[in-house]
Amino acid sequence: MTKLVVANWKMNGDTSKISADLNYYAHVSETNKSNVILALPYIYLVWAKQHLLVNSKINLAAQDLSHYLNCGAYTGKINGEMLKDAGVEYVIIGHSERRNLIGENGPILVHKVRNAFESGLTPIFCVGEPLSARTDGSYLQFIELQLAGLEEIEQFKDIVIAYEPCWSIGTGKIPTMAEIQEVVEFIHQYMQKRFSYVKISVLYGGSVTGQNVDDILKIKSVDGVLVGGASLKVSDFTDICAKV
Ligand code: PEP
Repeated sequence: MTKLVVANWKMNGDTSKISADLNYYAHVSETNKSNVILALPYIYLVWAKQHLLVNSKINLAAQDLSHYLNCGAYTGKINGEMLKDAGVEYVIIGHSERRNLIGENGPILVHKVRNAFESGLTPIFCVGEPLSARTDGSYLQFIELQLAGLEEIEQFKDIVIAYEPCWSIGTGKIPTMAEIQEVVEFIHQYMQKRFSYVKISVLYGGSVTGQNVDDILKIKSVDGVLVGGASLKVSDFTDICAKV
C-alpha cells in the first residue's frame, strides 16, 4: 500500500511562500504524488486548488472544520460542505494543539468526524498521549479513551488516524520504533474490531524529519507520516516525500 505523507502547515505561510512552494511541489516528481496531502490554512485552500495545483496529483486537507453540519448563523465557522466545494479531500480533526489550546473535547470531535463523513471528507483524526501518561505507563488507556467516542458514529467511513504523542510534537524527541509500533498496532486492532468494513490507515506524527522517516516507514503497520515543522521547508519536505 502506498504510504501517505501529510504536511500540517498550521498557522504559517503567506501568499508568496504558498505560491512558491506549491508551484515547486506541483512540478517535482518527489512531491507531485496522490499520497501527498497539504493541510494549508483555510484561506489559501481554494486558491491552491484552482490555481497552484491544477493538474497536480497532490491532495488538500483543511486543519479543522465546524462541528455544525449545515450552513447558517455561525460566524467565523467553515463547514465540511464548504471544504468539499473548495476541492478539499481530507480534514485534520482533534490535533493536540486544538485539544490543548482551544479545549476541544470528545463530543465536539465526534460531531466533527461525523460531519466530515457526511460531507464526503476523509478525517485525519489525531490521538496521542501527554508525557505524564507515557511516563506512568497509562498511554494505551489514554489513547483508547480518545478513540472510544468514534463508536457513537452510525455511518462510519474510511478514516486516517494519526498517532501523535504530545511530547513529540515540535520537540525533536521521538519515541523508539518499538514504542511507535506498539501504539500503531494497538490503534489498528482497536479500529479493526469495531470498523472492519472501512479502510483504516494509521500514521505516525511528531518530529518527523528526512533523517528519521526511513526508520519510521520501515514499521509495517505505519501507513504514513504527519509532518509539522519539517513540512515548512521545501528541501526537508521534498526529502521526506522522496522516501515515502
Ligand atoms: C504536528 O503538528 O502534527 C506535528 C507532527 O508537528 P512536528 O512535525 O513539528 O512535530
